Amino acid sequence: MNLNAAAPNEFSMLRVITLVTDAQGIYRLTSALCDMGVTPLANVESLSAIQSLLCELPVDVIFCEIRPECCDGLMLPSLLKKLLEAGTLEQLPCIFWTGKTTLNAPIRIVDGGRTISRKTPASQLWIKYLGGITIGALESHARLARAAGVFVEILHEGATQDLGDALRTVLLTRAQPDAKLQMRTFDSLAEDEVINALTTGEGLRFMFQPQFELLSRRVVGAEALVRWNHPRFGEIPPSVLIPLVNRLGLDLLLFSLVEMWTLRVMLALKRENIQIPIAVNASAKTICTPDFADRLAARMQQAQLPSRLLKIELTEDVPEPDELCLSASLTAIRAKGFKVSLDDFGTGAATLHLLANLSFDEMKIDGAFVRGVEQHSSSRKVIEGIVNWAGLLDLNLVAEGIEDESTIPLLHRLGCRVGQGYALARPMELDVFLDFVVQREKNQ
Ligand code: C2E
Ligand code: MG
Ligand code: MG
Repeated sequence: MNLNAAAPNEFSMLRVITLVTDAQGIYRLTSALCDMGVTPLANVESLSAIQSLLCELPVDVIFCEIRPECCDGLMLPSLLKKLLEAGTLEQLPCIFWTGKTTLNAPIRIVDGGRTISRKTPASQLWIKYLGGITIGALESHARLARAAGVFVEILHEGATQDLGDALRTVLLTRAQPDAKLQMRTFDSLAEDEVINALTTGEGLRFMFQPQFELLSRRVVGAEALVRWNHPRFGEIPPSVLIPLVNRLGLDLLLFSLVEMWTLRVMLALKRENIQIPIAVNASAKTICTPDFADRLAARMQQAQLPSRLLKIELTEDVPEPDELCLSASLTAIRAKGFKVSLDDFGTGAATLHLLANLSFDEMKIDGAFVRGVEQHSSSRKVIEGIVNWAGLLDLNLVAEGIEDESTIPLLHRLGCRVGQGYALARPMELDVFLDFVVQREKNQ
């Protein structure tokens, strides 16, 4: 008896299609699904066939057989993303890659016309393949797809338990409201409300997330982060708010608000004799505002605060033609004694090109590398590389997005001295943050 077989009809409501090109494969996959109580709606044999089918009917899961001679399954995440962006899809299906798993054959070397097998030291760590492709390569591709918002799961053929778990996950996520769809609705409604929030401050909250020296757990800095509570949609993440703010040209207004709250925090800390730098996020466009550095200096002077306590974190895309202006602004900011940090290094616009051409005091390692540090040796190597660059360029380094306590010693071993993340402390309201820092300082 198969103990993991689905409860009657548990998965019957799932709309499943398969992308398999050979008759045997179709039979294998359909049988495995039927054992789980799932009857596929159709099998398709090409990406174009999937595209036409998805225009006609909503689908929850697409099962693709991975084979070296057919790359359609690998191309599917980017196709789905394009269809979603074009508004063709109401709902994004999950993708399950499946296929035969094998171990790599021992390395063969040709010796005078004879082929002989040779065991190398590396052969103890035989690489697994799924459908002829290394699991490592598939996993990185799946990670990228997930980061782009497309859910991809890798299932070994015959792994009934994994199949059941994966289908259950789909059922659970389908029960949640479609966040993307909600956000799209929100996007079209919200412009007036964003203007209102920024001009009146209504619904805006300013949070502060401490940064720690990893070894001593001393608080050595903080980052200011904005939140917006919408009367109907609840908490709107900055990933939605900030692009709207930028589109409406309100970025400098937002920066000024965050800066104002940050100065309040600095003044409160000064009264406690605590001096830690606080970072405020700013896009390249904000930083390129005429006289930005003079404006910053005037505000700090007015508040009688030293400029070294304010850090500007460069976020988001840098349009190419603005690079000269950005370079001038960053240099002027640093000349006035403010610190400048390159946010989210390693992803998006925060590239080596920027690092090589502009001047910074600090770089922040993107959370995507930090979160993968325990599981993926590639993330560890990338972090080691970034640590080396930071050393060569004489930059401070902050590891972002530390979610697990267990990664802290590992990050420290890799050379990261300062970090920020939920495992250390979450972003806090002003009063809570002040209490937190003051208490920490007293207990040192
Ligand atoms: P960021 O500047 O890289 O900020 C760090 C983000 O990571 C924050 O998200 C923070 O809450 C989140 N975070 C902190 N620790 C962890 C962790 O351990 N795990 C995970 N998964 N996340 C963690 P938040 O507040 O949602 O901000 C997202 C982005 O929005 C920021 O990324 C920044 O680029 C932008 N942003 C936020 N506030 C502002 C602002 O006032 N002005 C501008 N221009 N951008 C802002
Ligand atoms: Mg930041
Ligand atoms: Mg960041």
